[in-house]
Amino acid sequence: MIFKTRFAPSPTGPLHLGHAYSAMLAHDLAGSEDGQFLLRIEDIDQSRSRPHWEEQIYDDLRWLELCWPEPIMRQSDRLAVYDRALDDLWSRGLLYPCTCNRKDIAAAASAPQEGVPLHGPDGIIYPGTCHGKRRDTQRPTDIPLRLDMAAAGRVLTGSAQPGAKVGAFHESGAGPNGETGTIPFSLGDLTDTIGDVILSRRDMGTSYHLSVVLDDAAQGITHVVRGQDLFESTRIHVVLQALLGLPTPQYLHHRLIRDDVGKRLAKRDDARAISKYRAEGASPADIRAMVGL
Ligand code: GLU
Ligand code: ZN
Repeated sequence: MIFKTRFAPSPTGPLHLGHAYSAMLAHDLAGSEDGQFLLRIEDIDQSRSRPHWEEQIYDDLRWLELCWPEPIMRQSDRLAVYDRALDDLWSRGLLYPCTCNRKDIAAAASAPQEGVPLHGPDGIIYPGTCHGKRRDTQRPTDIPLRLDMAAAGRVLTGSAQPGAKVGAFHESGAGPNGETGTIPFSLGDLTDTIGDVILSRRDMGTSYHLSVVLDDAAQGITHVVRGQDLFESTRIHVVLQALLGLPTPQYLHHRLIRDDVGKRLAKRDDARAISKYRAEGASPADIRAMVGL
């Protein structure tokens, strides 16, 4: 098996220092293992993806002296693959439609009997309002679909016990609280700290979680290198891999590059865009030094 890492940017804004760090780390790791570094364009959000951002990504990565094999995988070419996986999960009774908006969810989650709303990787943990409202036998394609996490956990463990072990992944970096090594999780962890996440978004016909799992498997990625902000999402990905019969890669979650006041860099902070440093005369070695590589 070839050691493979990837960098999977969304072309919705300029690459900043944090992206450069992630890409260089994945690239260097593949190099040190005689492996391959792949690029994937995550453009399922067509309302925000722009060709000029994609061009800027290639240009910045080449300038950083990174290289990758062609052709590049792009998510907008793979909608049929996502569709088939949704059909599969739907036919197994693991998805249900939900049209609750943010306000509905916040209101239901803070109803008196619910206590303080808890947050998972995708925001407030879905209070389950539409759970059990599945009527159609055909999968609706124009309505968001949620994964029934309790049902998924039962399928994977053959048990309804909260303590039943669902799966595990290997972390060779660290989570936000220093989690490292083998990270096991139980059915109760899934229902209490993640909940019924959306697998098919309106106007996308897929979601980040579903696409990333199918794409990592299709590209044969053995080591996923990405920011610590996605550590909590990894359990969702491991569940989906198990449900869809896909291998679980190893994970390396890296520290986030923060600005001077400790705020995580976001794409809108154009002040830290790689293109800005380039325009100011920085070299690739300067960028490496800035992120501590
Ligand atoms: N497209 C995602 C991002 O820009 C990549 C997430 C991942 O590496 O899994 O954050
Ligand atoms: Zn709903």
